[in-house]
Amino acid sequence: MHAEVLVSLALRQVDKVFHYNVPSSLAGKVQVGSRVLVPFGRRKVEGYVVGFSPAPNPADLKDVAALLDEGPLFTPHQLALARWMAAYYLCPTVKALRAMIWPLLQVKGPKKVRGLWPAACCEAPDFRRAPKSAAVWQVIQARPGLSRKELAEAAGVSPRVVDAMVARGLLRSEERIESRDPCQDLPEKRIKPPVLHGEQIRAVSKIIEALDQKGGRQVFLLHGVTGSGKTEVYLHAIAAALARGKQAMMLVPEIALTPQMIDIFRGRFGRQVAVLHSRLSDGERYDEYQRLRTGEAGVVLGARSAIFAPLEQPGLIILDEEHEPSYKQEESPRYHARTVALRLAGYAGAVVVLGSATPSLESYCQAVGGGAYHLLELTRRVGELPLPSVRLVDLRRELQEGNKGIFSRDLQEAIARRLSRREQVILFLNRRGYSTLVVCRECGLVLKCPHCDISLTYHVSGRLRCHYCNYSVLAPSLCPGCGSRHVAYLGMGTQKVEQEIRRLFPTARVLRLDSDTVGRRGAHREIVDSFREGEADILIGTQMVAKGLDIPGVTLVGVINADISLYMPDFRASERTFQLLTQVAGRSGRGEQGGEVLIQTYSPDHYAVTCAQNHDYQGFYRREMALRRTLGYPPYTHLARLLVTGRMEKEVQEAADFLAQAVHAAGVPVELLGPAPAPLTRIKDRYRWHLVLKASAQGVLREAATAALDGFSGTGRYRRVQVSVDIAPQSM
Ligand code: ADP
Ligand code: ZN
Ligand code: ZN
Repeated sequence: MHAEVLVSLALRQVDKVFHYNVPSSLAGKVQVGSRVLVPFGRRKVEGYVVGFSPAPNPADLKDVAALLDEGPLFTPHQLALARWMAAYYLCPTVKALRAMIWPLLQVKGPKKVRGLWPAACCEAPDFRRAPKSAAVWQVIQARPGLSRKELAEAAGVSPRVVDAMVARGLLRSEERIESRDPCQDLPEKRIKPPVLHGEQIRAVSKIIEALDQKGGRQVFLLHGVTGSGKTEVYLHAIAAALARGKQAMMLVPEIALTPQMIDIFRGRFGRQVAVLHSRLSDGERYDEYQRLRTGEAGVVLGARSAIFAPLEQPGLIILDEEHEPSYKQEESPRYHARTVALRLAGYAGAVVVLGSATPSLESYCQAVGGGAYHLLELTRRVGELPLPSVRLVDLRRELQEGNKGIFSRDLQEAIARRLSRREQVILFLNRRGYSTLVVCRECGLVLKCPHCDISLTYHVSGRLRCHYCNYSVLAPSLCPGCGSRHVAYLGMGTQKVEQEIRRLFPTARVLRLDSDTVGRRGAHREIVDSFREGEADILIGTQMVAKGLDIPGVTLVGVINADISLYMPDFRASERTFQLLTQVAGRSGRGEQGGEVLIQTYSPDHYAVTCAQNHDYQGFYRREMALRRTLGYPPYTHLARLLVTGRMEKEVQEAADFLAQAVHAAGVPVELLGPAPAPLTRIKDRYRWHLVLKASAQGVLREAATAALDGFSGTGRYRRVQVSVDIAPQSM
């Protein structure tokens, strides 16, 4: 037998299995899932063993040069999933595999430290004349395994005392594995679950029924209004899965994976929970992976990529806020965690729960009218609290009546009222920084990033920043174009809102939550905890304040400008706006005093805004579906996007034209939009053009895209141009 090795080269053409002989020194050690080094041309490259087969001509085969890890890195499930991803998303299998195992590749292995143990002697040594040694002895009896330094510190002696005891054979030193636990500093208080209310009980029992059923995947869509207690449904479902010896995955958007969320899970399931998110160190992530691989942990709580966590047999997969765009990865492999989850559940026969207050149209249409999903509904808030009342403020009227400020008079009054009643306020604006547009009043020059076709954002630090590539420069006092002193700072971000609030309400205590204030580890937690404890009156922030926060003291949510997301050049703009407004409105009125929401907008008649005002998901769904049908957009059609990038605009354009020709030549029934410059025409010095393919079935889309990509790599022209394909793009 010889090994089939998937070789890890970046090129699309080399997503291919090669055959190698397993030398006798490695026989039995090389398994499916092993990472190996193999000769490839004149080089040695990394590869992954994906199978074994009888050799046709064993003499022709080269030997596997080395085995790189002790055990296999991926399971047969994961391999199957990677192969499916490659076919579905048109990405190299190796890329998909790496997305699953990369946490295992970042560090050498478990962290080993030297620890000390009491030597096994028949009787306790006599320390009557050596009080320092006695102190050390006492500590090490209670806490064996401490390091030399820790032990000396705990006993209050110099490390030399410890050394002397080692020399005398009283202590032995040994290597031990130290686990890097990302939740170490969290309190681990067990929390007792509350008694479920009627709708929760119904939802949980349906899920449990499905867990108890043998057979294939079942999918639930849990549609529950904000504050209806969806998390509690997930927790009960996970507990039920664990009780049945099954493993569970809980995915939440990165931004909602807050310390509070982790506390809730650790409080319920203790060390059974492994946590995976982007703020972990490589070592912590490696150790969490190991805990899952060994079965020590049976629940994964994580963001998008946690869908690849190494569970032997997931029985329950939950995606909270299933409509969130952040479930889509925007670089290769360009997968959607929900799509992958549904597939994985198919392999594993798992139950899937998709939850949201504002389900994606894709999911909702599967859950109504004879679709494949089961709909579970939570129609009321916990404790019979009413949903907050929502008022719209027409900013056009405000302007006509001479108010050019950030806050309408209504919103100012509402804030003042809350402050006088010692209630709390959340203000939402989905832009960070101070001023989002810096422009010269004399010559009209807009200050843009030199690397991107994006205007720079002014920050209170005095710097201009590009929010796409992080370029930053000191703000000039004179216009770099004409030297004029009349440079205007237009457009507003959260910093400007904060400044204005401090000016209008000088005694109010204000906190700001956006990616500029949560840079430091632990900062997010501090800000939210502090607000929850009532140490501030007003919390200003970006979408970070829109999701997940459950703070009973908040009786007013103000949306500074609802229109920011409404007029994006994107067919999902209305859906995103409706979702965002509903989510942020849902932060208000979670306590007994009730709550109110004020939405400032220039489009008070837009259905995305009015439906959010009326908590009318069904109404929004009907309007939006009708539009999508008329315009031929998902979920009525399928889309793929080919993005062409390069440093020379002309080459990019020519390559895009070539791809368009190739799509036509493929002769399959797809509609081609473009080629055209992408909405962001340049990022990080690369020009961007795109083509959008539309079809009534997924299969022909892939056929057309594959034909175009193959034609492209076949020409050998446009070597400096890159093409990427995005199946089911989330935005354009
Ligand atoms: P959602 O995710 O649907 O917006 P949450 O899960 O945040 O709602 O729940 C809102 C609040 O209600 C939370 O503080 C939660 O602990 C609490 N809660 C949930 N279910 C119950 C229940 N059955 N009894 C009492 N409190 C509950
Ligand atoms: Zn100028
Ligand atoms: Zn830039």
